[in-house]
Amino acid sequence: MDEKNTMSNSESTAIVLLIDDQMMVTEGIRRMLVDESDIIFHYCNDPNQALEKAIALQPTVILQDLIMPDIDGYALVDAYRNNEKTKNIPVIVLSTKEDPEDKSLAFERGANDYLVKLPDKIELIARIRAHSKSYLTQLQRDEAFKALRELQSELEKSNVELQKLSSLDGLTGIANRRSFDEFIDKECLRSARENSTLSLILIDIDFFKPFNDNYGHLAGDGCLRQVAAALDEMVHRPADLVARYGGEEFAVVLPNTDIKGAEKLAEKLCKKIRSLKILHEFSEVTNHITVSLGITSGVACEGASPSDLILQADKALYLAKELGRNCYKISKGN
Ligand code: GH3
Ligand code: MG
Ligand code: MG
Repeated sequence: MDEKNTMSNSESTAIVLLIDDQMMVTEGIRRMLVDESDIIFHYCNDPNQALEKAIALQPTVILQDLIMPDIDGYALVDAYRNNEKTKNIPVIVLSTKEDPEDKSLAFERGANDYLVKLPDKIELIARIRAHSKSYLTQLQRDEAFKALRELQSELEKSNVELQKLSSLDGLTGIANRRSFDEFIDKECLRSARENSTLSLILIDIDFFKPFNDNYGHLAGDGCLRQVAAALDEMVHRPADLVARYGGEEFAVVLPNTDIKGAEKLAEKLCKKIRSLKILHEFSEVTNHITVSLGITSGVACEGASPSDLILQADKALYLAKELGRNCYKISKGN
């Protein structure tokens, strides 16, 4: 094995690998190509090493002798075609015979061209350039497609991430108001379709303004995070949604849940927040954080719209505040 020169490969340079056991043929071809600055010539006289050499070198054209000791040229064409690293490299078969049967067999086995040796210099160079060019173009296209596919997959990932971010509340990490609005709209439509009961609980932290005023906004934010996490932890059904409705208000949407179910959950939520024992010496209820809750439920086809449900839950919440806070109240609608 030898190399004609070590010229660096540019985008249009043809890298030729000749597989031929005869030194005379090798020398003849080498001479034909020696003056072509865009063609780098390599050869391999041992057919047993042909595939290995082709894999390592990644030529843009293989010149393949047909009759060699141990392996015939057709078997080598098969081997190139069956190897991931060489399967698309153009192969020009060099034969001693101008035999149509040989020719068609060579093409059948996957050769790209057929020349009788020693070929005419001009013809050989023209064919090497043409095959090499189309192979390099194909490689570039494949690379471009691959890069495009990678870019698309990156873009899809970022979109999913973005979608997630745009639906979550930045402070607490639970669903934001936008998700709540979309969710309750969707669930109202489902309730209408399935004649199912949809419940809503609105939750408001008691005396949160004095908490903020006395402990500072950072402590206030920490408290909101704790309350959000606790609510989220208590709401188990995959169909339910816990969202930050606004400032220190949260909402829990409960599809397929009647008022009794919603009431049970509201009671648990109220207890859970109390059990966090977040110190609040400025609350008029007790010396730790408590919440008030307003509950409502309805069936969409009986007139419950998202705004109705919100209005009713808000009414109930107001009542809970009026009646001393740290409790839940129910509004059954008009
Ligand atoms: P009530 O028991 O009647 O609900 O009284 P309240 O003090 O909780 O109600 P009010 O609506 O007067 O105050 C809500 C306060 O919540 C106002 C503001 O200081 C606080 N708040 C709202 N959003 C945020 C937030 O994102 N971070 C922090 N730290 N505080 C917030
Ligand atoms: Mg409020
Ligand atoms: Mg409040």
